[in-house]
Amino acid sequence: MPGRQHLANRLLTMKYVSTRGSAPTLDFAGVTLAGLASDGGLYVPEEWPQFTKDQIADMRGLPYAEVAARVMEPFVGDCLTPERLRELTAKAYGRFAHKAVTPLVQLDEQHWVLELFHGPTLAFKDVALQMLGLLFEEFLAREEGSLTIVGATSGDTGSAAIDAVAGLDNVEIFMLHPKGRVSDVQRRQMTTVRAPNVHNIAIDGSFDDAQAMVKRIFADADVTATHRIGAVNSINWARLMAQVVYYFTSALQLGGPERKVAFSVPTGNFGDVFAGHVAARMGLPIEKLLVATNVNDILHRALADGDYSTGTVTATAAPSMDIQVSSNFERLLFDVGGRDGLAMADQMVAFDAQKAMRLTNAQREGAAALFASARADADDMAQAMRWAFEQCDEMLDPHTAIGLHAARTAGIDPTVPVVTLATAHPAKFPDAVERATGLRPPLPTRVGDLFAREESYVELPGTYEAVRAHILEHAA
Ligand SMILES: *Cc1c(COP(=O)(O)O)cnc(C)c1O
Repeated sequence: MPGRQHLANRLLTMKYVSTRGSAPTLDFAGVTLAGLASDGGLYVPEEWPQFTKDQIADMRGLPYAEVAARVMEPFVGDCLTPERLRELTAKAYGRFAHKAVTPLVQLDEQHWVLELFHGPTLAFKDVALQMLGLLFEEFLAREEGSLTIVGATSGDTGSAAIDAVAGLDNVEIFMLHPKGRVSDVQRRQMTTVRAPNVHNIAIDGSFDDAQAMVKRIFADADVTATHRIGAVNSINWARLMAQVVYYFTSALQLGGPERKVAFSVPTGNFGDVFAGHVAARMGLPIEKLLVATNVNDILHRALADGDYSTGTVTATAAPSMDIQVSSNFERLLFDVGGRDGLAMADQMVAFDAQKAMRLTNAQREGAAALFASARADADDMAQAMRWAFEQCDEMLDPHTAIGLHAARTAGIDPTVPVVTLATAHPAKFPDAVERATGLRPPLPTRVGDLFAREESYVELPGTYEAVRAHILEHAA
C-alpha cells in the first residue's frame, strides 16, 4: 500500500538525545525505561519524523488504535515490530469506554471539546499511561529486568499509573500523595486498587515536598545501584508520544490536513501541549496552540514576555494546573532555541539557582510562531463552565473550563475550528462543578463501587529518610 508511513520508517532506528547534551543517546526502549536523563535533562528525538499531507490524509476514518500505531511507529523505530505495536495499541485503547476513544463534541460553530477522559480513571492521563504500562511490560520481559516506579501525584497521575501497572510481574509502583490534599475520588482511585505490586504512601507535606523526594530517589546512588527506578510522569517520553495521536485524529475530523485547526490545552507540566508541538513538527497543520493556565501563570508570563520566574503556588479548583515549574517547557526551549544541549544545561542550572530566567530571543520567537497563552481566574473558570452547561448542555471539569476560557478569548480567526482538550471527567471534581452550575455530576458506572471498597495505604512523615526506608524495605 503506497504512502504508508510504517513501511518507510521501519528500517530507521530513532535515537533520543538529552536536552542537556551530555547523557548517552538511547533508543525508544531505553528512554521508556529511563525516565529522566542522567545529566538531569529530558529525552527528545534526535530529529522529528515527517508525514506528508497524503500520509496524514490516509489516516482519516481509521480506528483510533490504528492511527496511534501509525503516529507512534517512527518514534518506536525498530524496538517493536509494526505487528506488535498494533497489538499493544489495540489492547491499550480497547479499555476505553467510548468507541471513538477520544470523541470530539461540538459546542458551537467554532468550538469543540475533545473528550480525553473515557479511560479507566477518568482523566486524560489514561491515554498515555495505558500504553506506557504495556510498553514497560514488553521491554522488561525482553531483558528479564524489573522496574521500581516511584512517583508523586497531585491526583490524576497516581490513579492512572496504578491502574496501568497493577498486577504486572516485573514492576513495583510506589506512589506518594500529599495527605489530605487530593480529592476523595482521586485518593480512592489509588488506594482501593488491591494488587501486591501497588504501594500507596500518604506523606505529611505538600505535592512539591513529595515531588522533591522522588527527585532525590532518582539521584540516590545507593538506591539506583540496586534498583532500576522508572518514571510515570510526563518527563517520560513515551507518555508524550502517546498524546500526539489525538491531535491527529481530531484535526482529521475537522478537515485537516487541508484545513488548519487550533487547540486550547489546560496546562500544568506542559506535557500535553508539547505533544501538540510535536504533531505540528511532524507536519500536521496547526493554527495555534493555546496554553491555558489558571492563576499559577508562570507559563503565560513566559510566553507573553519572556519572563520565566516562579512565584508561590496558589491552590485552585484545578489542582493539576497548580504548578510552578513545568518540566516539559525545557523540551520546547531546547527545540525552538537551537537544540544546543550545553547552553540549555547552563540556562537550567542558573534557573534552578535563581528560580527565574529570561528566554533567549530565539526561544521567544520560536515559541511565538505556534504558541499563545491565556490565564483564567476562578470567575473566568466558573463562567466558562456555566456557558458550556447553559448554552451547549456540556458539563466541563474545572481544568477543561480554563481551556475553554482561553479558546473563547484568544481571538482566533472565526473560520478556524478551535478544539479545547477536555482533560478530566467533571465527576472527578464534583464540588467545583456543582458550585458553578448547580448540578452535581454523577460518577460513571464504570468506576464501580469506589466508595464501598476498602482502602490501603501507609502514612509516613514528610522526611526523605522515612520514604526511602519504606521503598527499600518493600521493593522486590
Ligand atoms: C495532568 C493534568 C493537566 C495538565 O497536563 P500537563 O501535561 O501536565 O500540562 C491538566 N488537566 C488535568 C485534569 C490533568 O490531570
